Amino acid sequence: MKDYNCKSVGIIGAGIQGVCIGLQLIKKGVPVTIFDRNDPTEINFKPASYGNAGHFSPYAVLKFNRPDILYNIPKMLFSSNGPLALKWNYVLKLTPWLFNYLKNCNKKSMLHTAKYMHQICKLSINAYEEIFEEIDTSNLLDKKGIIYIWKNKNIKSRELEIKVRNDLGIKQKLLSRDEIMDLEPNLNPIFDGGVLFEKSMHARDPYGIYKKIFDLYLKKGGKFIKEDIISLKQVDKNKTIIKSINKEYNFEKSVVAAGAFSKKFTDQLEEDIPLDTERGYHVHFKDKENLISRPVICLDNGFSMSPMNQGLRAVGTVELGGLKNPPSQKRIKYLIRCAKNLIPKLEECDHEDEWLGFRPSLPDFLPVFGPSLKNKNIVYAFGHDHLGWTLGAITGKIVSGIVAEEKTNLDLAPYSSNRFK
Ligand SMILES: Cc1cc2nc3c(=O)[nH]c(=O)nc-3n(C[C@H](O)[C@H](O)[C@H](O)COP(=O)(O)OP(=O)(O)OC[C@H]3O[C@@H](n4cnc5c(N)ncnc54)[C@H](O)[C@@H]3O)c2cc1C
Repeated sequence: MKDYNCKSVGIIGAGIQGVCIGLQLIKKGVPVTIFDRNDPTEINFKPASYGNAGHFSPYAVLKFNRPDILYNIPKMLFSSNGPLALKWNYVLKLTPWLFNYLKNCNKKSMLHTAKYMHQICKLSINAYEEIFEEIDTSNLLDKKGIIYIWKNKNIKSRELEIKVRNDLGIKQKLLSRDEIMDLEPNLNPIFDGGVLFEKSMHARDPYGIYKKIFDLYLKKGGKFIKEDIISLKQVDKNKTIIKSINKEYNFEKSVVAAGAFSKKFTDQLEEDIPLDTERGYHVHFKDKENLISRPVICLDNGFSMSPMNQGLRAVGTVELGGLKNPPSQKRIKYLIRCAKNLIPKLEECDHEDEWLGFRPSLPDFLPVFGPSLKNKNIVYAFGHDHLGWTLGAITGKIVSGIVAEEKTNLDLAPYSSNRFK
């Protein structure tokens, strides 16, 4: 094992990014301590990494900064019946993100995002496979593919997505409605077509997999401390301080991996990064997971049905409303309505486990990886929006490499926070 000079690293955030970064640093022989305000072994640990849809989606490189959907956004925001919703009390606070989003909503930025998402997405599954060699994932993973379905009313957008994926060499199999019904006979045939990503994996319990990775990190010597971190600073070239209400912790280097909550720290470090959140929800229909064999994502309605060990998970939608607003019952009702419409056998079923999660989102839909601009011993790793589950393991590799000052063949410049200066 190579001996890196870095004597110690503190990581803020024990979500999938923090834990995968910690694991890779420990493997390099660097002592690591991860902080989180919630303990991953306790019942109240429910961040985005806990409740997501579980898709490993390296194909989903085209994001929402696209001119083709821009004109639909105002209509979607005013409807409580759509995939996108806005908490009106949050509009002012959302302005910096929205302004930047509009700046990035053009063909050139769209293709730039797709290219640099693809650069990391295509490495994402191998990075997980390496971790999976060390943990038992039986009953936690399925490899039966993932299906997108759609109605032809938005066919131009679907054609654009298919073309971008084709141009990047991403494998996809176009399916007719009948072919989809053959694969998933319990669906209501209210769609016109779709695409299958054959052999794509999905987690039948994202938290179950997360927890095994966390345990592996501890087993290899990583430390965890339950603390609500209030501040972070670099004092000199050998020292950063992570501070909770009661205590200060010193490390040579620190990593910010606090997901959607990372902005508090970048603001303290005097960097104006327009990080915000796209809120998403899930509910379960208990004992109904066998109604479908693989995740089905309804693109027009912005939600997915994912078979999980906890039940059939209806998950998704985007709500722009910040970190403090309470969960919205309207969004939960929307999810349930969409689920029952897509799978009529759910009609009489009750749901349980209402959950709200915070996707950490930047307006150009690329994550931030790299040193803070003014504090080189503090490294950023946040902003994975809809793909943070997919990108956990590769983020661990990339960011641990940045911390350890290793050379890389990847072009990391597009992920720097420099782009928001
Ligand atoms: C509804 C929904 C569905 C999704 N589906 C998918 C999917 O199918 N596939 C996919 O790839 N991605 C999906 N995602 C996205 C993915 O879940 C996230 O991008 C990813 O989990 C983010 O990981 P993270 O480690 O950055 O953040 P988080 O998981 O949010 O972890 C951040 C951690 O930091 C801690 N923290 C924050 N502030 C502090 C502080 N001050 N002190 C101490 N600790 C702190 C929090 O407690 C939290 O544990 C989905 C997200 C949602 C919401």
